[in-house]
Amino acid sequence: MSDTDLDLTLGLGTSGNDDPEECAATVHRALERGYRHVDTAQMYDNEAAVGEGLARAFDDPDADVSREDVVVATKVHPDNLAPADVRETARESLDRLGLDYVDLLYVHWPTSAYDAAATLPAFDDLRDDGLIRHVGVSNFTPDLLEEAAGILDAPIAAHQVECHPRFRQDELRQLAHDDGHYLVGYSPLGRGEVLDDPTLTAVAERNDCSPAQAALAWELARGVVPIPKGTGDHVDENYAALEVDLPDEDLAAIDGIDAAERLIDPDEAAWNR
Ligand code: NAP
Repeated sequence: MSDTDLDLTLGLGTSGNDDPEECAATVHRALERGYRHVDTAQMYDNEAAVGEGLARAFDDPDADVSREDVVVATKVHPDNLAPADVRETARESLDRLGLDYVDLLYVHWPTSAYDAAATLPAFDDLRDDGLIRHVGVSNFTPDLLEEAAGILDAPIAAHQVECHPRFRQDELRQLAHDDGHYLVGYSPLGRGEVLDDPTLTAVAERNDCSPAQAALAWELARGVVPIPKGTGDHVDENYAALEVDLPDEDLAAIDGIDAAERLIDPDEAAWNR
């Protein structure tokens, strides 16, 4: 839940969707299926393809979706977090997306050119200018979240972090709840690596759903907004997780999978080398 007027639920992740036609077709298909939240980033090098998919859906009477219905989120690359670069590259992102505004603009990682006191006021400026509706942060620690909240005029609307059955993020989830921002869970399927976990497959079998749907339903029940990346039929399968209602004992069983196993190590990320 967020204390802002942002309305976020299960979204479409697009990282690694590098083929422009496949990416545009996937975004179009997702919006037609019912998704109302699409996640991209300067780093993914696919904002133009995501924009093409959005435009196709907005033009498609069968999709029955308009710009105001969709939360479009992108992220400023860690190397672009000096204030002038934030302002300039956010405008470039809008050009690539073909949009007048994005609903959510994240600080992608608090690293490289990130300097809280300089970077965050530039996000406030973009909001004041109507180019972004909400400010988000990604990959922050509790201390960095507190620092950011003390600098920003805008409330933090969402914090995006790795979250899946092997990496539960209880502390950040509690903080999000207490502070009134959304916790958006990336790599919610553990990049496919958690899907053969025996506990997860057993829960899926008991509930007549797929392991991916069980993982996503567990995240939703725990108050996390998952953004699975999927193509083809996975797009539909993942969206249908919104209809899966896991009983308490199965939610508890998935809680037990946690192994504090992070997939993405910030120290090994390309921009930190
Ligand atoms: P993910 O969503 O956990 O996993 C994606 C992988 O799972 C893909 O290989 C996908 O294959 C497969 N998959 C999707 N649905 C499936 C299903 N129903 N059954 C079986 N396999 C399925 O991993 P992710 O891409 O790392 O994370 C999701 C999104 O989070 C990203 O796309 C990005 O938008 C965001 N993200 C943000 C950050 C950050 O620093 N803020 C970092 C990483 C990711 P197919 O493509 O073939 O369907």
